[in-house]
Amino acid sequence: MVSLARPFLADPAFVAKAAAGTPERINTCIGCNQACLDHTFSGRIASCLVNPRAAHETELIIGPTVTRKRIAVVGAGPAGLAFATTAASRGHAVTLFEAADMIGGQLNVALQVPGKFEFAETLRYFGRRLEETGVELRLGHRVTAPELAAGSFDEVIIAAGVTPRTPEIPGLDHPSVVSYLDVLRDRKPVGLTVAILGAGGIGFDVAEFLTAPADEDPLNVSEFLEHWGVDTAYANPGGITKPIEEAPPRQVTMLQRKASKIGAGLGKTTGWIHRTELARRGVQMIPGVNYQRIDDAGLHVRLTGKDGAVHDHVIAADTFVLCTGQDPLRELHDELAELETGSHLIGGADVAAELDAKRAIDQGTRLAARL
Ligand SMILES: Cc1cc2nc3c(=O)[nH]c(=O)nc-3n(C[C@H](O)[C@H](O)[C@H](O)COP(=O)(O)OP(=O)(O)OC[C@H]3O[C@@H](n4cnc5c(N)ncnc54)[C@H](O)[C@@H]3O)c2cc1C
Ligand code: SF4
Repeated sequence: MVSLARPFLADPAFVAKAAAGTPERINTCIGCNQACLDHTFSGRIASCLVNPRAAHETELIIGPTVTRKRIAVVGAGPAGLAFATTAASRGHAVTLFEAADMIGGQLNVALQVPGKFEFAETLRYFGRRLEETGVELRLGHRVTAPELAAGSFDEVIIAAGVTPRTPEIPGLDHPSVVSYLDVLRDRKPVGLTVAILGAGGIGFDVAEFLTAPADEDPLNVSEFLEHWGVDTAYANPGGITKPIEEAPPRQVTMLQRKASKIGAGLGKTTGWIHRTELARRGVQMIPGVNYQRIDDAGLHVRLTGKDGAVHDHVIAADTFVLCTGQDPLRELHDELAELETGSHLIGGADVAAELDAKRAIDQGTRLAARL
């Protein structure tokens, strides 16, 4: 028996596409739990990150357009891809501009993180949909506001994403300071002791990336079972055995300004896994940190204890990684407004608050369904 559940939320035509010998057309479930189980366990209607129509089929209707429009989309991250392919499938003439030489936006960074490599399937699917729907894709083209304004487009969609937020901490130009993009995307060297400033989703991803065993193979089942102490031979009560612990390649400390529990905002059904994994790798977590400055001695912080007492402390580390949030990239929207050309903001360019490809894809699809 082959048993599937979530894959049918991602693509109800899974079996038909497989039977037709076109598995590359399947929209693959990436195992994120973000819109299915996380919704279910928080009393919301289940859906799917990669398919916002799941369980919303009667309300989110994608029908042929009556008036064919010329539409420009800026940015081929998940928001722009979802918009462009949905709008083109309805019959609109869509041009998708992407500054990079490949589609995907931040998903290309996300898939570097252990456990998130399946985002590559989402990009494979969208790549195929771009071809099928006839979107005109202009890679390596950083489009400008005057170009868009002069392009006689009926609609302009800004899906330009985000820019990492730089906090105001004296000493950020110290050579020990890098950003999450330096680490995940550009593979800059990172020392053996690391402090991560910011413990949101990206902070957790960077901590997992930096403490993962060098030879980890996420598809090796026996490694997985040994790691989590699963005894498939049932030689031990409950099928549980002692997990195999491996020394992490680095010593990592995660810091957070907020005094609340670190990792409280992670996914309902997956957050505990990330917190457990990092605890097993000896990652220290310190909330309630007030960053003062960075110099040769390290990161100077002011900590408030549980009793309310304040004390100063220096955190020494080889490398400090900034994971201190993101801001929306809205310049084009504002410049177009000055040129009296209206535009729609979607995805991170609209709201950059969280790691949210789910909202980006949903917003792009819904806007394309009604234009
Ligand atoms: C490490 C990491 C892990 C993540 N993990 C998750 C996760 O597990 N789950 C989740 O839901 N989300 C996750 N995210 C967040 C998710 O990737 C973003 O929410 C999502 O990519 C935002 O989509 P977007 O299309 O709005 O923007 P982006 O993905 O940022 O794409 C914007 C695109 O616009 C292009 N662009 C900008 N300006 C121009 C221009 N003038 N001309 C042409 N092109 C332009 C950029 O080159 C870029 O490709 C993660 C992000 C990171 C960095
Ligand atoms: S939300 Fe994520 S895990 Fe759930 S069905 Fe969709 S892709 Fe799969």
